[in-house]
Amino acid sequence: MQKRSPSLNQIEINRPSDRENTTQAFAGDIKNVPASDIYSDKNKLPVMYDAALPTPAAKPSKADTNIIAVLWHELITPLTVIKGYASTLLQLEEAITEEQKQQYLRGIDSASNRVIRLLENLRDITKLEETNAITMQRIPLLDLLRQTASEMQNQTRQHIIKILPCPRLPLVTADPEKIEMVLNNLLINAVKYSPQGGDIELGLRMVRSEPEMTDIFPDAPRVKLPCLIVSISDTGIGLPETELDRVFEKFYRVKNKLSPVTPGAGLGLYICKIIVEAHGGRIWARNRFEGGSVFHFSLPLDKVL
Ligand code: ADP
Repeated sequence: MQKRSPSLNQIEINRPSDRENTTQAFAGDIKNVPASDIYSDKNKLPVMYDAALPTPAAKPSKADTNIIAVLWHELITPLTVIKGYASTLLQLEEAITEEQKQQYLRGIDSASNRVIRLLENLRDITKLEETNAITMQRIPLLDLLRQTASEMQNQTRQHIIKILPCPRLPLVTADPEKIEMVLNNLLINAVKYSPQGGDIELGLRMVRSEPEMTDIFPDAPRVKLPCLIVSISDTGIGLPETELDRVFEKFYRVKNKLSPVTPGAGLGLYICKIIVEAHGGRIWARNRFEGGSVFHFSLPLDKVL
């Protein structure tokens, strides 16, 4: 038998002396070993079998299938657009006007951004799940709200993004970059899920005690007090009451008339949740009586001056 290059990924297979020589019997005995060990032990089979070894295929769960479907859709949709525009530009270069060319290039640009956003979200999740690294600073939250709202306002003409008046508030200890990510994701959603346009309002308030909390946010989850609470409301399609908690799950998307035509992989709110909880806060969603939804998140205050 010809030896295979030891630089390949080597695995060890113990001879299943005391059991049936079935694929099932092999499956549990595979582990990484140094290449030098492979041929020195008579009780070990050489590595010729690693790639060919039939291991019992684990049946993908319904959740796995859903994740693949969501990712597939989120990649194939923009890539098809990019391919379509790029092919047209290549084949019909002479026949299209400068204006059409600009339109196709803008299409390619925006579809590429969609792929990049998805990959960035996946990278952020991996980083956040692995290290939960947040770099705390004392920050004026209202300034961050103003800055993020104004950047988002530059991207939409259909919506009016407003900051509701609020009193002077203490600084909060938080990671500004991560909180900006949360605000961004919530604002992007407020825009995406209000396709008819409308007002998007950002509110910020301080809550010091349980009675105050129950008074202002009667059905909120339990939060650490004192805290600052950010609220972002829209006049969009709202959320099914049964899915108010589920929307924070990884890869979860509500199935409604907008979902097939709205970009998204069900990651934005999951990212918000990991970040807010890493700060000791809570995030929750509610429907507004007047239509649309509102997302609140709390950030605990060290001490109130
Ligand atoms: P997605 O990429 O699908 O937007 P998110 O995690 O940000 O993922 O949101 C999960 C789901 O929650 C969305 O698919 C959408 O159905 C619902 N959702 C999020 N924000 C809003 C909102 N402001 N209004 C209505 N539905 C929303």
